[in-house]
Amino acid sequence: MNTKAPRKKSWAEPFKIKMVELIKMTSYEDRFKAIREAGYNTFLLRSKDVYIDLLTDSGTSAMSDRQWSGLMMGDEAYAGSRNFYHLRDTVEEYYSYKYTVPAHQGRGAEHILSQLLIKEGDRVPGNMYFTTTRLHQELAGGVFVDVIIDEAHDPANEHPFKGNVDFNKLDALVNEIGAKRIPYVCIATAVNMAGGQPISLENLRKLRQWCDEHKITIVHDMTRVAENAYFIKDREPGCADMSIAEIVYEICSLTDIATMSAKKDAMVNIGGFLAMNDKDLYDRACNMVVVYEGLHTYGGMAGRDMEALAIGITESVDYDHIRARVGQVLYLGDRLIEAGVPIVRPVGGHAVFLDARNILSHIPQEQFPAQALAAAIYTQSGVRSMERGAVSAGRNKETGENYMPKLELVRLTIPRRVYTQAHMDVTAEGVIEVYENTDKVKGLRFTYEPEVLRFFQGRFEEVE
Ligand SMILES: *Cc1c(COP(=O)(O)O)cnc(C)c1O
Repeated sequence: MNTKAPRKKSWAEPFKIKMVELIKMTSYEDRFKAIREAGYNTFLLRSKDVYIDLLTDSGTSAMSDRQWSGLMMGDEAYAGSRNFYHLRDTVEEYYSYKYTVPAHQGRGAEHILSQLLIKEGDRVPGNMYFTTTRLHQELAGGVFVDVIIDEAHDPANEHPFKGNVDFNKLDALVNEIGAKRIPYVCIATAVNMAGGQPISLENLRKLRQWCDEHKITIVHDMTRVAENAYFIKDREPGCADMSIAEIVYEICSLTDIATMSAKKDAMVNIGGFLAMNDKDLYDRACNMVVVYEGLHTYGGMAGRDMEALAIGITESVDYDHIRARVGQVLYLGDRLIEAGVPIVRPVGGHAVFLDARNILSHIPQEQFPAQALAAAIYTQSGVRSMERGAVSAGRNKETGENYMPKLELVRLTIPRRVYTQAHMDVTAEGVIEVYENTDKVKGLRFTYEPEVLRFFQGRFEEVE
């Protein structure tokens, strides 16, 4: 069986289109005006001014006819909705976790978990930070520690599993502060901030052993677990004959607790959950969820949304689905590589990450080259992308200094089942045009800087 992604031969999406959403074609002048009004922040653009929206794959995927019919089966009882039990059973069947606490989205689950497990002064190691995850760790008094392998910070390094954990870094942390000050290790699958890069089963199995030796819990940020499983099947020795569902189940079984943003892999527009095997922790999570999200059998989700989520989970582990999903991302990446555009290699599971530091080498990192590149791509082509560099990284809580991450990237994120290969061609052409005319792009400075998660609402002007 050929498990390689369909990269060179023609291929097509494994679905047909039953309903369409019309989009407006905009002119260069329209976009020039719109990006200025948005303070050079693509988050502040109106969706109506965007042609191809690659801002995020979060909540932007297309639901299937089965998911839409699931919405009609919503049991909107305040307590004990039928859909909650369907969701809980599906989580256990596909993801192994016994107890599920619904949340309005991923960060709702992160909030509850961080408050329950982190104490002031704790260190929380993870395979690279994620914005909301780290913020909730910090709000609970913890300090995030990056333990991903060094290769993950090098956009040109072709390591097949850049999401892997470096055990020397974990050992060093234990030697420094002791295992008791480490409430858990947080492991993301298909690491978003590293470019959608997978962790291998081998590395995760080793981590399980290491954590057992040190009596440390593993928390799984499982937002993109199916994409990670696809890469394991495609690349990891001995895994080619495993199904995506089997790999997903094994990954989850190696961990203790999970936070899920169901808006990604599971293809719903809103929702998430916290899941675990420890009954005592579950009881404590139920006590907290009623304060911040809703009763423990809905946690901020409507019954119908829990139904669509349960169905989405089953679709997300289908081989044809995930192969086409990741295949489309690889297709866009290949078109840019052919044109010589510097991108993070290898291409990840949900997005193509442009190496803005390299593309706009005339702009110093203090002037946010990735933010400037995202604005330029929008103005050129109507394609909306997102900054993932110094703006997203924020400031150090203690020193107030800007973090200057090694990776200064622009993310072109592909929603699931929404765009066709032709949209990918148009996107590639737009990026290539900017790449060939970079001298016109200027650096930026803040005119408004929010205190937290500043990339969402920050505003900028050009530095002359
Ligand atoms: C999106 C995301 C989150 C947060 O989830 P929300 O649903 O946006 O709150 C957490 N971790 C990762 C890796 C994500 O991609």
